[in-house]
Amino acid sequence: MLRRLTAAKDNTRDRRHNKENVLNMTDLIRIENVTKTFRMGEVEVRALRGISLVIKQGEFVSIMGSSGSGKTTLMDILGCLSKPTSGQYFLSGQPVENLDDNQLSDIRNYQIGFVFQTFNLLSRTAAITNVELPLLYSGVNKKERRSLARQALQAVGLEHRANHFPNELSGGERQRVAIARALVGNPQIILADEPTGNLDSASGKEIMELFKELHKQGKTIILVTHDKEVALYAERTIHIRDGKKIEDNLNHNTTEDISPIKKEAHRRTSFVGNLISGFSSGYKGLLSNKMRTFLTTLGIIIGVAAVIGTLGIGEGAKQQITSQIEKLGSNVVMVFPSRAESKEEALEWRGRSPGLTYNDIIAIENKIASAENVAPQIRSNERVKYLDKYWDTTIMGTSQPYRYIRNLELASGRFFNDKDVSDWSKVCVIGKTIVDELFDGKDPIGEEVRIKDELFTVIGVLTEKGRVGWEDFDDQILIPFTTAQKRFTGSDQINAIFIQARTSELAPVLQTDLEELLFELHNKVDDFRIRSQEQFQETIEQTANTMKLMLACIAAIALLVGGIGIMNIMLVSVTERTREIGIRKAVGAKRRDILVQFLIESTILALVGGLLGIVGGFLFANTLGNLFVGAGMMGPRFARGTEGQSVVTLSSILLSFGFAVIVGIFFGMYPANKASKLDPIEALRYE
Ligand code: ADP
Ligand code: MG
Repeated sequence: MLRRLTAAKDNTRDRRHNKENVLNMTDLIRIENVTKTFRMGEVEVRALRGISLVIKQGEFVSIMGSSGSGKTTLMDILGCLSKPTSGQYFLSGQPVENLDDNQLSDIRNYQIGFVFQTFNLLSRTAAITNVELPLLYSGVNKKERRSLARQALQAVGLEHRANHFPNELSGGERQRVAIARALVGNPQIILADEPTGNLDSASGKEIMELFKELHKQGKTIILVTHDKEVALYAERTIHIRDGKKIEDNLNHNTTEDISPIKKEAHRRTSFVGNLISGFSSGYKGLLSNKMRTFLTTLGIIIGVAAVIGTLGIGEGAKQQITSQIEKLGSNVVMVFPSRAESKEEALEWRGRSPGLTYNDIIAIENKIASAENVAPQIRSNERVKYLDKYWDTTIMGTSQPYRYIRNLELASGRFFNDKDVSDWSKVCVIGKTIVDELFDGKDPIGEEVRIKDELFTVIGVLTEKGRVGWEDFDDQILIPFTTAQKRFTGSDQINAIFIQARTSELAPVLQTDLEELLFELHNKVDDFRIRSQEQFQETIEQTANTMKLMLACIAAIALLVGGIGIMNIMLVSVTERTREIGIRKAVGAKRRDILVQFLIESTILALVGGLLGIVGGFLFANTLGNLFVGAGMMGPRFARGTEGQSVVTLSSILLSFGFAVIVGIFFGMYPANKASKLDPIEALRYE
């Protein structure tokens, strides 16, 4: 088949008119006066110095020239991998100049198949997956990708090598895989830059036969070569030297019956499908470097574990406090004596107030309607003896209503009554710890214990209750407060008054009533402090919350450090895989595709870290958590039994996991963006 070749220059003027464009539709490729200048600091390299040429649909053209003459530069421009410095390029009559990055990607994907001298296959990927790559970026679904890739491998005679990795293939086989990849999307144009340059002559011949076959099927083939023999496979040979075209000749071979290209529509995959394939490739990449992946995720693991663990401990402590407050009794208001704050105040108060005494209690009982139960408290620490055993414990002087205020239950015996109080009886009610320490399984009721050289008869035993804060209800001996005053303190002063309001609504009223009454009783001396159980609870909760916040901050910092670790390793990964990025872009990956690929990888890193962190968080909460609390570092100590264990809540898991993923995406953004912006040519040249 003969064609009259016209120098492109002759057409230049006409080309400016749209009408002419329509008439010249068979001009598949048309470049006019194209130059390319590389600037390397001070030095300018003029790789192309004004080349014009026209290539028609279905032509088989070889480009020859010595090394450095600009052949690759020209091919890169023809393949839409780079843009000319000046001059114009029309592809199917369309000026390429005006196309944006995404449109250029589409052209590389749908219209052009590239074959490189160095094959440029993805090394960690099987042959068939390499062949599928362009289809991945044109959104063909997985099943169809597989079958089209298989067909393409069949076309190059390599279907039996489909699952081999590039390093298991010979040079000729690798190049055939690369050709299959160029063919798989059924493009019109095949660009091959010295495809036989790295092959022995036998393999080279096979490859050229393949190109010849493709040409017969109607493909437009442009092939760069050093080798005259290779060039002779083409219909036409263009010689270039120093960036200029010097010869453009027809070869004396012809190709008969060219079949028209048939283009079928591929079935597209969804965005989700793309994400899934991105996930599987990202996951493979990470698996190939397990140790590095693990170390990178360590920061995230620690961060997530810390968040879950500390929030769990905090939550456990909070629930603990709530149950303890219930033990202490509800709606309780306490009055404590208070000292003068200055010398002047002390002088002013002197002799005026009687302090906290039993008179106050009588007045409260008589005059304050909102008060339900009122009881005094006189505390001291004493040694208690029974036979040859002794135990150091808290002696609590009080009255009968104390029992109701504190919700104390009797395991056996009775509580002291009003008569015991008025008679200063030497009777006592003891806690479980005292029974265990002194009585050795014996029934203590009716036995006599010695406290400070006085003998007390045990009349009751309290049920086990545990401890709240520093108050251990089991390690206590209760005696009538009158007895404590007469036998131990020798004073009429009281350490505290406990008042229980009739209802919780009345508690604030009770507080103000108390304030007024006591101020009067104490001759307008402010030598007492009123505290409610709720205030006490709030203080503890505030402390716990502060602790929680502090720990959460530490955890957040750990996550941040983890994120920086991810960013660091992703940047390394982008550099390591520059060539891979170049290959992906050359076969039609858009910026967005590369961005998503790397984002998915960093997100997987964060996800893995997050999942391991959740496991770590449980361990942390259960072991370290109890240690902390056991050592009293969390304020209230945990009681025996199930309550008091740290509580890992679903919300803390979701919170930390979500945070980890956000960290992964956030810190993956910069490396992924960097990868997506790489110039395909520079990326392919990267060593
Ligand atoms: P060929 O493929 O014919 O051997 P090239 O097109 O690769 O030649 O290169 C032509 C000239 O342009 C050479 O002098 C080369 O050094 C220079 N060149 C090519 N690419 C770049 C680049 N990215 N930066 C600087 N110089 C380049
Ligand atoms: Mg070259």
